[in-house]
Formats: sequence, C-alpha cells, structure tokens
Amino acid sequence: MILVIGGGIAGSAAALALHRAGFEVTVHEAHPVTGADIGAFLTLASNGIHALDQIGAAEAVSGVGFPLTGMRAVDAGGARSPSVPLGSPGRKLTRYRCVRRADLGSALQREVRRRGIPVRHGARLAAVAEGRRGVTAVFADGSSAHGDYLVGADGLGSATRAHLAPGVRPQYAGQYVFYGYTADAGLADAEGETLTMIRGSRADFGHLRSPAGETYWFARVRGPAAARDAIATHPPRAWRDRLLPLVAGDRTRAADIVAATERELRVTNALHLPRGVRWRGRRTVLIGDAAHAASPATGQGASMAMEDAVILAKALRDAQGAPEGLARYERHRRPRVERNIGMSHMRTASGPPERVVVSSARGWPRSPQRALSQLDDALRRLLDWDTPLPA
Ligand SMILES: Cc1cc2nc3c(=O)[nH]c(=O)nc-3n(C[C@H](O)[C@H](O)[C@H](O)COP(=O)(O)OP(=O)(O)OC[C@H]3O[C@@H](n4cnc5c(N)ncnc54)[C@H](O)[C@@H]3O)c2cc1C
Repeated sequence: MILVIGGGIAGSAAALALHRAGFEVTVHEAHPVTGADIGAFLTLASNGIHALDQIGAAEAVSGVGFPLTGMRAVDAGGARSPSVPLGSPGRKLTRYRCVRRADLGSALQREVRRRGIPVRHGARLAAVAEGRRGVTAVFADGSSAHGDYLVGADGLGSATRAHLAPGVRPQYAGQYVFYGYTADAGLADAEGETLTMIRGSRADFGHLRSPAGETYWFARVRGPAAARDAIATHPPRAWRDRLLPLVAGDRTRAADIVAATERELRVTNALHLPRGVRWRGRRTVLIGDAAHAASPATGQGASMAMEDAVILAKALRDAQGAPEGLARYERHRRPRVERNIGMSHMRTASGPPERVVVSSARGWPRSPQRALSQLDDALRRLLDWDTPLPA
C-alpha cells in the first residue's frame, strides 16, 4: 500500500501513475471537499500533457480550460514580435492548455475516483513515523494510516517535507504576482489561443483570451513581498489601484485590461524552495511543489509535477526494491527540476525587468518555458511508459 499525501496536481497524477504500475494506493487530502486553489490559472505545457498521456490521463484534462497555440512578446513601447508556436500545431497532445488550477485539480481527482482509487478528504497530515516494516501517517484529527511507502505531494507548505527536512521553508523569490479575469477588456478575436507576454518597464505582464471572451491576465512585480494581511484583506479594487500606475506608462494593453477588472483579482507572493532539499527517507519521498517549488516565471510547476508522477511510478515499478526505486527517481528528477528552479529564479530575481528588443521571433527558442517543455529524445524515453527507467 502506498499512501499519497495531498490530492492536488502532483498527488492525483502520482496516484494514477502508481495505480497503473500495479500498486495499491490511497490518497489523503487535507481539504474537506476538493483541494487548495492558490494560483488561479496556469499554463499546462506540452511536457506535462505528454506525461499525463503516458498514464492514460491526458483525455481527462482535455475538457478543462482551452488550448494555447502561440506566444508573442511585446515591449514597453508596444513593439510586437510575430507569434511563435507553442507545442507542435499538428499534434494534439503537445498543445499547451490554459486551465484554472481548481478545474485541473478537479478533473484529475475525478479520474482518480473513476479508477476506483480511494480518496480521503479532510485528512491533514500532522506527523510521519517511518519504521522497518512500513510508514505511519498521523493526521490532525487523530486518525492514522499505515502503508509500505508514503509519497508527500502536499505542496509548498508540505508536512512531509517538515518530517524529512525540518526547518526548510519556501523563500520569497522577489516578485509578487497579480492574477485577474475580466470580460470587458475588449480584446479582438485575433488574440484567441495566443499568450501575449509584455516586458513592461515596471512589471512583466501576460494576457490571453478564452473562447468565451474572457481575458485572463497576470502581472509579476519585483519588490518587497506583499504583506500577508494585505493579501488576505485588501479588496480587488485596492490591488487594481496599486497595479495601475505600474503599467500605465507603457504603450501596451496592460493598463486597459487592469482597469477593466472589477472583481476577480488576487495577489500572491512568488515563493520557491532552495535547491538540495532532502527528498527521501527510507520509506518516504517528496514530489511536486513539496520537493521543488519554483517561482512561477517558467510556468512549469504543474507540468513538472506530472513528470514526477510518471517517473516515480516507473522507478518503483522497474527497480529491485523500493529504496533503489526512490533513489532512481531522485537521480532522474533532481537535475531537471532544479534547473527549473534556477531558470525561474533568474527571470524573477531583483533588478529592473530586462529589456527585450522585439524585432523577430528569433529570441524565443531560448525562452525558459519553451526550453523546458521541449520533448527531446532523452525526456521522451524517461517518460515513455513502456521504456524501462535506466538505473
Ligand atoms: C502564482 C502561481 C502561478 C503559477 N503558474 C503556473 C503555470 O503557469 N504553470 C504551471 O505549470 N504551474 C504554475 N504554478 C505552479 C503550480 O500551481 C504548482 O507547481 C502545482 O500546483 C504543484 O502541484 P502540487 O500538487 O505539488 O501542489 P498543490 O497543487 O499545492 O497541491 C497540494 C495538495 O496537498 C494538500 N495538502 C497540503 N497540506 C496537506 C497535509 N498536511 N495533509 C494532506 N494534504 C495536504 C493541499 O490541500 C493540496 O490539495 C503556479 C503557482 C503559483 C503560486
């Protein structure tokens, strides 16, 4: 029996992958009904969707959100690059999707339940005891569960990580992030399926348009972290008024979009984990944000969590014994996910936003989001369900 702690993106994907590999799995999720919903919306990149496909779950998320087929850059003066493709246009499974995080989580959880994997809600992990014969998870309500192994997929504030690496906490990455939705931004139809990334003079800004005509947008602003009580109590209008002067000086659509946002606007601090965090004990292992949360600039957190799920399941399936399986998982994952933390941090780090000269699409292949989502032969082999995971 494998206990998966956390029924979010990483936990649900891991449950599906481990179940497919033949393990008995139960999911223990703290939230009483669904899962946490922080982060509003996200882009799911080709690599994440490809990973889900390996465990037969790509179909389960194909109905949530909408496809994103291109990306263009705009500078503070309003100069635009041509749109460059995201994923390979002809291949459905390499298409990016923009999804509300809660919808993605619900779709994955539905698939977990459809496959008959038990999910226990309201089960908040409080402590872990590892022994020779197994591992015991103790929950905040006093209940407990016993298994052979425990997978900590309990996100940024992971209680599993507190057991494995006491004292390691997420750190502020140097940007706070605004998320908003508005139906009134007046963007033309031509904006559909294209993510526009604006390198503004005081904020990085992204926007895209849903098929229903809603504009989804975010702004990343460098500076001291937003105060917790302000995040919890300031109304959307107060945040909007704080952001407007930071985008108003640029010759872009950002100010119009922000001004048109009345109600759906929230703010969060970008956090990341240091590299080198201890990921595993004798019977316990971390995946997803619990192991390697990165600041959001590369937009790869969810996709990396899905890759983790596939590679963990393959590692446990293919290794001689679980200790070797857990070690194999870490060997294959750590370099890639820590590269994501590093690349994201480079883009997030303090200082004025970098200047981009937008004259052609030539600069884009080095965009970190696209670089990390490339399905090269090595990554394909690692993710391919039928290819054994090398030692
Ligand atoms: C502002 C922001 C923007 C982002 N943008 C993108 C993007 O564009 N693309 C992208 O791919 N990623 C993005 N991400 C990252 C992405 O949201 C995360 O990487 C992803 O959600 C990680 O999934 P997870 O399952 O590891 O963690 P989570 O989604 O946080 O799930 C953890 C689950 O564990 C549960 N839990 C927590 N503690 C306990 C406990 N003690 N016991 C039991 N259960 C527990 C929670 O309720 C939750 O359901 C963004 C993140 C942020 C904050």
